[in-house]
Amino acid sequence: MKNIIFIAPPAAGKGTQSDLLVKKYGYNHISMGDILRKEASKKSEIGKEVDEILKSGNLVSDEVILKLTEKILTGTSEPYIFDGFPRNMSQAKILEETLVKFNKTKPIVIYLNVNKEEAIKRATGRLNCPKCGKIYHKYSEELKPQIEGKCDECQVDLISRDDDNEETFKTRYENYIKKTLPLLDYFKSANDLYVIDNPIFPMEIFAKIEEIIK
Ligand code: ADP
Repeated sequence: MKNIIFIAPPAAGKGTQSDLLVKKYGYNHISMGDILRKEASKKSEIGKEVDEILKSGNLVSDEVILKLTEKILTGTSEPYIFDGFPRNMSQAKILEETLVKFNKTKPIVIYLNVNKEEAIKRATGRLNCPKCGKIYHKYSEELKPQIEGKCDECQVDLISRDDDNEETFKTRYENYIKKTLPLLDYFKSANDLYVIDNPIFPMEIFAKIEEIIK
């Protein structure tokens, strides 16, 4: 099974596809967003700083990301998924060097090409279980919870992330266009790049990803 980097606009479905890959193939899912949210909840000096940045929709500094990368890769078994990392050119370089240092196999890159309107709909409709982390969507038939507002598995109330509002989405999307999207050119030559255009239905996208990773 191949290692994966997901590139996609905010809220495009990287987390949903990662959850499916973890369940079916035992992937090790490394979500930089989840790692940073955990950091933010610690209320340490660095935690407070990260919390502010997450709420603004901007990218956390490369300095913090660099510190986290080595820590993450030491404990990473293969196959792995990088979700939300790298998000700019300097992070791509950091990752490339660290993978060599830790003797890890090079990942392929899967780009989920979702348009802005669809991404905004997904961000504002996303719901998360605070207990198990499962992701739901208000507007997707396939991803709606069975009982409105409740996790199917834990039965607790679902919540929206602080940054899943239209205002913050704008900043996240601008950062994505300016800093993350240009990485595609780099990945075209540095890694194998696969593009999934207009991915809408989660299980259809998953079938395409399964074809790519096998
Ligand atoms: P989404 O997939 O919806 O974009 P994430 O959970 O991946 O959400 O990211 C949430 C926030 O965490 C981002 O808006 C950014 O502030 C921060 N973040 C995540 N990954 C990185 C990264 N690689 N570098 C800097 N900041 C990051």
